[in-house]
Amino acid sequence: MPIDFYSKLVKASEAYTFRDFVLLPGRSEVEPDKVDLSVRLTKSIKLNLPFISSPMDTVTESEMAIALARQGGLGIIHRNMSIEEQVENAKKVKRAESFVIRDVFTIGPHDKISDALELMNKHSISGLPVVESDHLVGILTRRDVNFADRTEEVRAVMTSDVVVAQPDVSIEDAKRIMHKHRVEKLPVVGNDKKLLGLITIKDVYSRERFPFAARDSQGRLLVGAAVSPFDLDRAKTIEKYVDLLVSDVAHFHNSNVLEAAKKLVKETSVDFVAGNLGTLEGTRDTIEALDGRLSAIRAGVGSGSICVTSEVTKAGAPTLFAVTQIALGLQEAGMESIPIIADGGIRSAGDAALALAAGASAVMMGNVFAGCTESPGGLIKVGGKYYKPYRGMGSDASRQKRFAMDRYNQPSKGIAEGVEGVVPYRGDVQVVVEEFASGLKASFGYAGASSIKELWLKARFGTVSAAGSEELRPHSIILPGEEKI
Ligand code: 5GP
Repeated sequence: MPIDFYSKLVKASEAYTFRDFVLLPGRSEVEPDKVDLSVRLTKSIKLNLPFISSPMDTVTESEMAIALARQGGLGIIHRNMSIEEQVENAKKVKRAESFVIRDVFTIGPHDKISDALELMNKHSISGLPVVESDHLVGILTRRDVNFADRTEEVRAVMTSDVVVAQPDVSIEDAKRIMHKHRVEKLPVVGNDKKLLGLITIKDVYSRERFPFAARDSQGRLLVGAAVSPFDLDRAKTIEKYVDLLVSDVAHFHNSNVLEAAKKLVKETSVDFVAGNLGTLEGTRDTIEALDGRLSAIRAGVGSGSICVTSEVTKAGAPTLFAVTQIALGLQEAGMESIPIIADGGIRSAGDAALALAAGASAVMMGNVFAGCTESPGGLIKVGGKYYKPYRGMGSDASRQKRFAMDRYNQPSKGIAEGVEGVVPYRGDVQVVVEEFASGLKASFGYAGASSIKELWLKARFGTVSAAGSEELRPHSIILPGEEKI
């Protein structure tokens, strides 16, 4: 049979993007402030907002992950660093605020005060339980050591009569005990004063300050880590410190990648997000390969704002199209409860609304979060305006660190698939997230939906012509800053 090339052209799929559609207004009884944007991402992970930050080295390290989880979203720590550095980042998130800190820094009674001070300064902590063979013998706070002789032993200045809590203490009881004894640190001990954890006043307050935060069962902030399906060592190490592993390859629908991911899910037990995928066939093969160990899918190939994959290779599956393709594949397999994360190309709350309306449960953003205070990298001032660095993980600069080189296929490793530049500074994550959440709620209000699941049912799309898209943004007006006539 001769190959029918012409049909390939005329029967091509319509690989739609965000810019092709609007969300049609529908009959609504929903006021935006009544919209619930929470989402169950996996069986054990519930987010209060459907926003996830991209695992990119100019977007998500511990600071971003902490800030975003406090708002109810989720950060995925990038993998362009050593395994140890990634573990350290994850630990920082878990330690940032937990009702009971399990992974406590301690000091011995015979250690020097200078050692205690060094530990306190290195980890920015203000007090250390003093332990001997895992058993609590005292507590040392900054006040005890400030004017002490640093060559002395810890036991000379520590408080030995320590106020402690039992393992089953509630947050309210902990507050009461701390208030009664005027202490700011409450070690949690078991039999024979074995140290099991530590409650700090800071964490108790923080819990009250961020009631909307995305937390695990122990009250710690949720965090994910990016892994390459080929990097089993990393996956097996980092899984102990995070709530989910996120596959970080540009083309998951590759036999070697599928094979490696199959092995990875067998050897790890934490939730696994596959991706990136963009087609129905890719979804089918992924479902088959991962055989029940699939927690969510990252959707979108080549649509990121820093991405030149499609330009260089002409290969791509725009995010909106990818979401609908994956939804189809999941429905076909009776697995529609598996969430889809729309990844790449989201510039506004409106884009996020379209992605959710098309079947996604959450959106992953790089560009938007790169512009926040909490992303890695300092502010750059150009002509009176502030910017932050942002680069693709396939850019030359990122690839120089080499840890994430295998994001791309063997043949394409020779070419850069991402660019490097700056994005406008947007302010703190909290401000940006509030802006996006308000925008999303307004979109839901127009569509008449009070939750993401209801949006799936009620949303109707309209296509927009090039002339129409011109009309849908401010036009026939000169805006401040654009006064050149
Ligand atoms: P953005 O929010 O900037 O539009 O897209 C971010 C997403 O782009 C990331 O979550 C990731 O999936 C993808 N990405 C990150 N770096 C690169 C790159 O260098 N090349 C390509 N093709 N995609 C990238």
